[in-house]
Amino acid sequence: MNNVQVHDKEFEILLENDSINKRIRLIGIQLNVDYENRCPVFIGVLNGSFLFMADLIKEIDIACEIGFIRVASYHGTESVGEIKEAFGLPTDLKDRDVIIVEDIVDTGQTLKYILAKVQQQEPASVTVCSLLFKPAALKEPIAELNYVGFEIPNDFVVGYGLDYNGLGRNLKDIYRAV
Ligand code: 5GP
Repeated sequence: MNNVQVHDKEFEILLENDSINKRIRLIGIQLNVDYENRCPVFIGVLNGSFLFMADLIKEIDIACEIGFIRVASYHGTESVGEIKEAFGLPTDLKDRDVIIVEDIVDTGQTLKYILAKVQQQEPASVTVCSLLFKPAALKEPIAELNYVGFEIPNDFVVGYGLDYNGLGRNLKDIYRAV
């Protein structure tokens, strides 16, 4: 498989589309068993999760609902550092089984923020399903991270929904910076 160029960076293949799809099928089977008779709400974190959500949801054969949220990061001018804001979180999650669908968990900051927002609504349960996870970058353990597609090294990756400065989301495979 050839390397790809995105903006100024060169990337090499890390995960081929075939193995991504095989892994997603297995996660789907697991979710169908774990959530039998429970009608969970899948919440995808945009933009990166759109392809993963689309492929994952096709493997789900139990009744379920689907929504998306978007999280923006700002670099604050004060010492609090990064401030985040979530757009579009459903407001009716009380007593629901929530499955957060992420493209990648890196430091875990984004996920911690989303989990806190979701917990405020007192759902029946919350779990996280992330296609990629960089264990070496994680700042503190996240108990809700129960479904992981692939643990990957602490490299920057693009493709299959993930971008580098806006480009690369349309690549079928996942690549890492060389
Ligand atoms: P965290 O808050 O866990 O550090 O980062 C989560 C977000 O950072 C992800 O949802 C994703 O948007 C972005 N991110 C983290 N690592 C990567 C990476 O290797 N490649 C890309 N394209 N985005 C990443």
